[in-house]
Amino acid sequence: MSRDFDLVIVGAGPIGASLACLMAARKLSAAARVALIAERLPEAPPAGADWDLRVFALGRASQRLLEQAGIWQRLPPARVAPYERMCVWSGSGAADAGSLSFDCAEIGEANLGCIVEGRALQWQGLQSARAAGITLIEAAVEGIAVHEGGAYLRLRDGRELGTPLLAAADGTESACRTLLGIETAGHAYQQDALVAHVRTAEAHRATAWQRFLPGGPLALLPLPDGRSSIVWSTARAEAARLRALDAAAFGAELTVASAEVLGACELTTSIASFPLKLQYALDYVRPHAVLLGDAAHAVHPLAGQGLNLGLMDCAALIEVLGDAADARSFGDLRLLRRYERWRKSENLLAAAAFDGLDRLFSNANPALAGLRSAGLSAVGRLPFLKRGFARHALGLDGDIPAFLRQEPV
Ligand SMILES: Cc1cc2nc3c(=O)[nH]c(=O)nc-3n(C[C@H](O)[C@H](O)[C@H](O)COP(=O)(O)OP(=O)(O)OC[C@H]3O[C@@H](n4cnc5c(N)ncnc54)[C@H](O)[C@@H]3O)c2cc1C
Repeated sequence: MSRDFDLVIVGAGPIGASLACLMAARKLSAAARVALIAERLPEAPPAGADWDLRVFALGRASQRLLEQAGIWQRLPPARVAPYERMCVWSGSGAADAGSLSFDCAEIGEANLGCIVEGRALQWQGLQSARAAGITLIEAAVEGIAVHEGGAYLRLRDGRELGTPLLAAADGTESACRTLLGIETAGHAYQQDALVAHVRTAEAHRATAWQRFLPGGPLALLPLPDGRSSIVWSTARAEAARLRALDAAAFGAELTVASAEVLGACELTTSIASFPLKLQYALDYVRPHAVLLGDAAHAVHPLAGQGLNLGLMDCAALIEVLGDAADARSFGDLRLLRRYERWRKSENLLAAAAFDGLDRLFSNANPALAGLRSAGLSAVGRLPFLKRGFARHALGLDGDIPAFLRQEPV
């Protein structure tokens, strides 16, 4: 086969860009022999633009991975908001007995994670790939043929590329996954997530707030300018009704839904809406091909973990490829199966946990109300359990690759 590249990554979202940068940073391949294919290369974010509506809560392991990829250092400080506390509740008030609070001091950490602007992350991922010398290609993939020696990609502009390993990081609707004949399972949540930024009467106190409502969870994530970014998951029809309200009426409904935890809420942006589903690929690998990120798994955003899980896919793949004899063996199915076993079990466990939480909390069944608040307060009263939750959410525990366990020196 013609081996144009050691690795071809399809999808230049946060997962694709991170994988490309890590390949170069950990010297698994010469940077120019890694191709990163973007459907459309984005424009530079306009200076002084308002925060993008897409924001991600990222844990410490994700931060370390992005540091090693050379992306984190490039994020403008004004586009990163560390949060120090988290408060979760399901009853009428955040201070009720059935609420659960975490403070970073309890686990000896400077914060519980950071809220990062999606547009800045995407742009700096590409900038970091450019600076490292990764080959950026703007094109869509139209065909994939896998032969004994490697994978061949046919691009819409007529080009053909050969590689021992194709990494599909092209999101939930992954065209590569379909072209590789990999099936998915899961279900739609019948909920949409409404996303917007709001100003609140009271300061957010660097706290991520989450109230479980019968229709779905409502999160308020702190932004550096004092506003909060909301992710309000609710039944489709209710989401459509809320989106159609004028700003004042939406703010008023949000104030009630958040139990006035931060006082009156004022909408400061448009509202974006995302349909939610649980989706997992039945296989993560084929000879000479691998799925990562949302192409492999899409989970409920209630724990803010989708991207964190995808970044751990990147780390695991990097660790496994590090054991390849040379780049020609990157597509060896035995090697790729190690990645699959590692990440599929972790991701399925996480997806099932978020699914279970959504089922337990997103309903009005009074028989479950006691269980909900008893569960939250039990975690709150058992310090070791509480610390365990906080460390897991930060990505400091669990089966994470060795090179992310230590603070960078
Ligand atoms: C409301 C909401 C809130 C969330 N909050 C969080 C959070 O706080 N923390 C967290 O960790 N996760 C969160 N997530 C999950 C997170 O958004 C995803 O897990 C993450 O964006 C996945 O990244 P990705 O790179 O795999 O896919 P994407 O971000 O979808 O990127 C895929 C890329 O592939 C490109 N592409 C697609 N098809 C092709 C093709 N044929 N050829 C070339 N390129 C292609 C696309 O243009 C895109 O750039 C949230 C999700 C939702 C819906």
